[in-house]
Amino acid sequence: MTATDEHFLLDLLNSTPVVAGVQQDRLEETEAWKSCPDGRSTLAEVRSALQDVVRGDQPADVLAPFLRDVRQVPTLTADGTVEWRLEAPPELTAAARAVLAWSELRTTRPGRLRSCGNPDCRLFLIDRSKANTARWCSMTTCGNRMKARRHYQARTKA
Ligand SMILES: [Zn+2]
Repeated sequence: MTATDEHFLLDLLNSTPVVAGVQQDRLEETEAWKSCPDGRSTLAEVRSALQDVVRGDQPADVLAPFLRDVRQVPTLTADGTVEWRLEAPPELTAAARAVLAWSELRTTRPGRLRSCGNPDCRLFLIDRSKANTARWCSMTTCGNRMKARRHYQARTKA
């Protein structure tokens, strides 16, 4: 799993941000969209399935169709190491890459990929903190907003 694959996955998951209360669709700005012209019709489906699975709204097996006829082939590189090359039907290349990145993350860093703690936010984060306590997609936006809200609620209750 490379940082590139993590970025690829997060970029896709985070392409439905809420701006001024309205959910946007920025699929066409994602690397997945740009990298896989044959798979564009599948991308919205895999994005929605991955979002549901990460939120815990769907079981992981909804991702199985995106791995149909997908293989990873070991290839020996010039410096003597093995790299895994993805072989997939053209329409599934980007979708499979996203699902494999999700799976790798789940195996190597369980629980680190999650939805933002702000219920009004549709973004996801990968928690890279040692203590595994990150809750917001971004401290400067959601973190501060939620802190301000809690502060306000505490004050109005008192
Ligand atoms: Zn957020």
